[in-house]
Amino acid sequence: MIGSLQVTIPAGCMNDCPFCVYRQHATRFRTEWQSNHERWTQEIAKRVRYAASRVAAIMITSHGEPTININYIRDVMGIINRVAPEMAHVEIQTSGVGLTEEKLDILYEAGIRVISLSVPALHEEDIIRIMRVPAKANYEPLNLVAMIREKGFVLRLSIAMTNWFDDYNIDYIMDLLVNVWKPSQASFKKLYGADNIATKVYDELLTEFKSRTRYRKLELLALGAWKYDADGIGVVWNDDCMVSEETADPRYLILQPDAKLYTRWDTKGSVIF
Ligand code: SF4
Repeated sequence: MIGSLQVTIPAGCMNDCPFCVYRQHATRFRTEWQSNHERWTQEIAKRVRYAASRVAAIMITSHGEPTININYIRDVMGIINRVAPEMAHVEIQTSGVGLTEEKLDILYEAGIRVISLSVPALHEEDIIRIMRVPAKANYEPLNLVAMIREKGFVLRLSIAMTNWFDDYNIDYIMDLLVNVWKPSQASFKKLYGADNIATKVYDELLTEFKSRTRYRKLELLALGAWKYDADGIGVVWNDDCMVSEETADPRYLILQPDAKLYTRWDTKGSVIF
């Protein structure tokens, strides 16, 4: 079984993160979503049917901020719910910026139950500073997190391990997670191609984490990383989120806006059909 079907939403981004991988791998895909909606619907449906028996979960993602294009999300989820209703585990990866209560309700209504919120730090003001969130966005990460929880979503913090983490030890970080952010899950993601902003202490923090005997291993995930229980939070250390290692089988199927399936983010040569 392949880990997930990654559905890429065509959208720009209001943020300007210095570690943005999407800007480094700026492969563009044409979409017929607006110009020939009927054909686009048929092509997407075909790929969703193919993926249905092969993947464990669906991740809604983007080369920008997916919730900017909420209508595309609604359309693609409508197709998934119609042709593959068994694919019920659907997550969305978002920066959270511009994610209003109304949009959260639309995501819930569409069938999405897990919100994976990307943060490059664990202090609110540093998140906004590092992501260079425009002031007019009025982004308040902790208020958003409370609203996500109230609405009944499972909240995952997808933590980009920037050099913000150089100044803290694992106990301080875990204390912020448990007492301030209170996610159901947290994944610590190693940054690639951004050496000037990536933390230098990723391996040290991971070693410290593993040495805390009260944290126990739960299961090995399809992406190849172990999931731990840490004071009631499901924690994953993901040091290969770009699938840089060679693997015999694809870890993802990626449904791009051109309605074709790929196995890699960084090359159109990975197209399946
Ligand atoms: S929020 Fe995501 S897409 Fe936008 S700049 Fe940051 S990393 Fe890139």
